[in-house]
Amino acid sequence: MYNVAIIGAGPAGIFAALEITSLKPDWNVILIEKGQKIEKRKCLLREGYAKCPGCKKCGLLCGWGGAGAFSDGKLTLTPDVGGHLVDYMDRSKVEELIDYADGLYLKFGATDEVFGTDIKTFKELERQAALAELKLVHSPVRHLGTERSLNVLKNMQDYLDKRITILNDVSAKSLIVECEQVKGIELDNGETVCAEYTIIAPGREGADWLTKEFAKNKIGMVNNAVDIGVRVELPAPVFEPLTDKLYESKLIYYAPTFGDEVRTFCMNPNGEVVQENYNGISTVNGHSYAEKTTNNTNFALLVSKKFTEPFKEPIQYGQHIASLANMLGGGILVQRFGDLLDGRRSTPDRINASIIKPTLSCATPGDLSLVIPYRQMTSIIEMLKALDKICPGTASRYTLLYGIEVKFYSARVKLTNELETEGVKNLFTIGDGAGVTRGLIQASASGVYVARTICKR
Ligand SMILES: Cc1cc2nc3c(=O)[nH]c(=O)nc-3n(C[C@H](O)[C@H](O)[C@H](O)COP(=O)(O)OP(=O)(O)OC[C@H]3O[C@@H](n4cnc5c(N)ncnc54)[C@H](O)[C@@H]3O)c2cc1C
Repeated sequence: MYNVAIIGAGPAGIFAALEITSLKPDWNVILIEKGQKIEKRKCLLREGYAKCPGCKKCGLLCGWGGAGAFSDGKLTLTPDVGGHLVDYMDRSKVEELIDYADGLYLKFGATDEVFGTDIKTFKELERQAALAELKLVHSPVRHLGTERSLNVLKNMQDYLDKRITILNDVSAKSLIVECEQVKGIELDNGETVCAEYTIIAPGREGADWLTKEFAKNKIGMVNNAVDIGVRVELPAPVFEPLTDKLYESKLIYYAPTFGDEVRTFCMNPNGEVVQENYNGISTVNGHSYAEKTTNNTNFALLVSKKFTEPFKEPIQYGQHIASLANMLGGGILVQRFGDLLDGRRSTPDRINASIIKPTLSCATPGDLSLVIPYRQMTSIIEMLKALDKICPGTASRYTLLYGIEVKFYSARVKLTNELETEGVKNLFTIGDGAGVTRGLIQASASGVYVARTICKR
């Protein structure tokens, strides 16, 4: 019998484990992770495969460190970005948790450099953004870089290995719930884990599983917005006015035609565009390395759309659109902005006749207007034109758009202010899989928060 069972070794699950071992060193804790240990994780695409082979357990998203492992570890140190924790507690509490989680990253080897702390510079950029009808969100960033991020996670793994039970390559299959209280978990290897408290932190990768399990146990869900868009890639100097000063800038725009919110997300100066695989569907993302650099900068432009009743399947909606891009391009599609505006597909020749070399070489030149709904596409075009006012060259005909970038935030679990599920006692749900967070630092903070709550009980 364990005191606490944790599902998922992403930042949310890892930070829950770190905090419990610190507060209750004598407790029995088990962490169940469906992917491999950090040193065994591999993504064949990253290792040179031309196309994503669609591994059953995606090496990019599953394993110790979760989706964050091969990310370049940008810790966005503000409650305004990367999650909804402020919906559950005071802003000052979220700030304290972020600060604490950031301190743990530092303790396990993160770099001490933080970008975007110079308020005078920020104010000037904020003014320029406002003139283009863009809102610039103040968001200081600690940038680890992919290599350092892997080291930090390895250090955490070594530390916890000595203090808790860690199961790798094993999935949680179903929750055991009796009399409205969680009792444990059935695993896919046939074993059963009994625990007083269970923390579910399966990330976006496990959001489908979570939704089904919760439906089975009649745990309520509320719709989250669906974020659909493209990854933009352009010459790094075009975005230097922002990236040199802030590293990552969070810009929000309300596109005039439909009034939908469009935002920049996950900016990677001198980085590369990558492909990822969700349940057999290829989507696009990006990252940058601390040492290895490219000549390009990439970032996502996401259009947020919140659906109303009776629609209940935001994940399926996003997957459907991403599948359409896969159907046309055999994977990821890439198109020059000029070709999109001219109403024609990009071809390999057109992509070659360009001032930008795509960093995701396996992307197929094609036509994104055949895939992205008119509403989202219009908003993306309008946002690119607004960005062009603060970083001239953004709306260049050569700018590359990769599709589809989609964030499966899933439905949000109905949770108490302690992040305990409504209806099933002692069951806590954290991180991206619960729709509560959207980034490394808030996912980590949510782990610390529930660990403290459980330890206090
Ligand atoms: C390429 C990429 C780059 C990113 N870059 C950044 C960035 O720079 N900054 C930032 O803030 N965020 C970034 N993110 C987002 C960030 O990685 C996530 O917000 C964060 O990892 C979410 O943490 P989590 O613990 O909730 O879930 P995850 O990190 O997704 O971890 C969930 C874990 O649970 C496991 N799991 C799922 N289901 C089960 C099951 N049934 N049984 C057992 N285990 C299970 C999965 O294998 C996974 O390891 C990036 C994401 C990607 C994919």
